[in-house]
Amino acid sequence: MPDNDLQYIPVNIPSITHEDVQAVTDQLRDGWISGESPVVREFEEGFASYVGKKYGVAVSSGSGALDATIEILDLKPGDEVILPSFTIISCIQQIVRTGATPILVDSQLDDWNMSIDEVKAKIGPRTKAIMAIHTYGLSADVLTLRAICDEFGLLLIEDAAEAHGQKIGGLYCGSFGDISIFSFYANKTLTTGEGGMVLTDDTTFRDKLRKVRNLCFQEEQRFVHESLGWNLRMSAMQAALGRSQLQRIDSLVNRKWEIGDLYRTLLDGIKEFTLAPESNHLGRNSYWVFGIVLDVDFMSGATMRNKLETLKVGTRPFFCPMHLQPALHNLFRAQSSDFPVASMLWEQGFYLPSGVGMTDEQVYEVAHRVRKVVQS
Ligand SMILES: *Cc1c(COP(=O)(O)O)cnc(C)c1O
Repeated sequence: MPDNDLQYIPVNIPSITHEDVQAVTDQLRDGWISGESPVVREFEEGFASYVGKKYGVAVSSGSGALDATIEILDLKPGDEVILPSFTIISCIQQIVRTGATPILVDSQLDDWNMSIDEVKAKIGPRTKAIMAIHTYGLSADVLTLRAICDEFGLLLIEDAAEAHGQKIGGLYCGSFGDISIFSFYANKTLTTGEGGMVLTDDTTFRDKLRKVRNLCFQEEQRFVHESLGWNLRMSAMQAALGRSQLQRIDSLVNRKWEIGDLYRTLLDGIKEFTLAPESNHLGRNSYWVFGIVLDVDFMSGATMRNKLETLKVGTRPFFCPMHLQPALHNLFRAQSSDFPVASMLWEQGFYLPSGVGMTDEQVYEVAHRVRKVVQS
């Protein structure tokens, strides 16, 4: 029975301060509201320098950042890109559309990131790039992948959408890829509502990305196009919000840790599930979201999520892995048993409310309701 006195706790509560509101309204009053506004360039420079990359190209979403990245690689049919099956559809869409072949890798049980041994085993003569995705706040082993890519002459694409402020040996995630991408979607640690950025040290990549983002307009002859692009521009209001959030990114990142640590303490010792790991060999969890994997003998993630919804706790399932996507069925014709860990994570995993704007009281309340379900 739904309890009408319970307050609903949404899966994401962003942190929007008075300064953020001021920054966006100032931009509106300024009147220069398009993607051509200098504030976009300022946000690009600020965020790139925060991560430790030379150039940033702001775009309208993390998915757009991935699309633009794959687009400028000029992949040919038969070229291969290695990536984890356990990720968001955004990572694979443009690979498939270009006619290149995505090569999927299963996840590791201990940190949910893709298995490096399997990556090594799947490198072949047609491999062009490896896409590493830092999953839910735990770093993928981009140190080893960087070395592998250098050895075999491959490009490393780093998806750090879920790894804002996360470090490996003192360097920020997003600084390891030849091209790295971030999302600033509403549930990301730093948000512009919708938005994303591509980072690189390479001026050729940078210039191609800028062109593709902007319909491949030409400087000399606007409206005469030598190639096709997209409109992926970020608006000035989004950039103004991003620039404002960037000023307190350390406190946003810190809030994720506080929420994660509090959940750990409050949910410790429940044998029916496994909590998001505290760290892996590359560093501590930045807890972009606080994930839980239920024991197969206990119940499925979907069942638990329904029970929590009745108790007014918003949750999200883990990723449905790429090998099980109906839209990609003809491509992979795979079964759950082909990627057992990713398949299990999809069946048994989900995450709790983790937004940077949530209060400690809300974290206590979520943990309390989770315990209620386990004990019922
Ligand atoms: C959120 C996310 C994206 C997509 O970003 P959008 O801004 O929502 O398009 C891409 N990759 C990962 C790993 C993400 O978590």
